[in-house]
Amino acid sequence: MYFTIMFTLSWPHCIGQSRIKEVLEAAIANQSLGHAYLFSGDEGAGKFAAALDVALSLLCENTAERPCLACPSCKKVLDYSHPDFHLIMPVILSTEHKSEGDLNAKGWAVIAERALGRIRDPYAAPDRSKAPTIPVDWIREVTHTIRGGSYSGGMNVAILDGVDSLKAESANSMLKILEEPPPGTVLLLLTDRISDVLPTIVSRCQIVRFAWLSSDEIRAELVRRFGGDAGEMDGSIADTGSLGKSLELFRNPAAGVIADAAAFLDLCGEGSWMEIANRIDEMVDWKDLARYEKFFAAIMDLVREAFLQELPASGNVFLAKPAWRARKSLTHAQVAAILEICGRSIVAVRGYAGILLVLSNGAIALSEVFGGKKQ
Ligand SMILES: [Zn+2]
Repeated sequence: MYFTIMFTLSWPHCIGQSRIKEVLEAAIANQSLGHAYLFSGDEGAGKFAAALDVALSLLCENTAERPCLACPSCKKVLDYSHPDFHLIMPVILSTEHKSEGDLNAKGWAVIAERALGRIRDPYAAPDRSKAPTIPVDWIREVTHTIRGGSYSGGMNVAILDGVDSLKAESANSMLKILEEPPPGTVLLLLTDRISDVLPTIVSRCQIVRFAWLSSDEIRAELVRRFGGDAGEMDGSIADTGSLGKSLELFRNPAAGVIADAAAFLDLCGEGSWMEIANRIDEMVDWKDLARYEKFFAAIMDLVREAFLQELPASGNVFLAKPAWRARKSLTHAQVAAILEICGRSIVAVRGYAGILLVLSNGAIALSEVFGGKKQ
């Protein structure tokens, strides 16, 4: 480090993760904070919240305990207007956000809005309606700015979320900064799929692995945010290991089932048998018959919806619901077959058939519908 930094680190956003907090607090106390960290862990485990707390602390103007959330620096970071705080993350953009391949004013406005939304609610679930990507223009701008050094002559901090989705081309400009960061630069890279991060990036970072949160930690945070209602919630809501996922379930109990159904359909279409078996293993642990029924019903909804979206006359009625990304167009016969399989599975669940058998038979039948030979 080129800067002397000595202060007590507090964590206004990040819940739990005490081991990680100790490591980062010690690094600051010992003046040994690295210039690049890779935060790895499940979606909603607190990677963004922790990165935000570290960024706030490094830029905070308070001397004793940071971040204070009240000084001009803290306020600017929280408003996404600090010249030495940078953020990139995957976003969903449409054609109207680009002109001749580059982000236009509308696109930049959307990016600023999403970034601010993320800062305001670090545990918010990502939009799952389409696959988000990190716009190359955004990466270029941030890396260019970082290379220029700190604007205010102090630290320069960047949160780079979703680095697993970086293609080699866009990763190159980031690699240069990872190799030779300007003095005072701290890069906080985030991923929930570390196996997909380019090895050249991983090898240049200190890896910090985020654990699953305990049900008690999640429940306490839900009660803190929502009061008594959360105390009486369905026990399984706090069992996700991820505050982000639990919040999503708490706010919209159906969302989790829809996400499960979409993921399962994707696996049956394109996953390997090993991946499907692992997923089924996890699902057997649900132990809640109503949830299996809702799961198969959600698959039926998604498939109907995906099919109807392809009909030109369907209008926008169905687009309002979270859509399963139908990678292959579904034929009439496929839709009918999937509905039949799910209907049969629901009957089996209600008849107390072994859940492992129901899920396995369902997966095999669905995979056959998609016509894929698996390994
Ligand atoms: Zn401050």
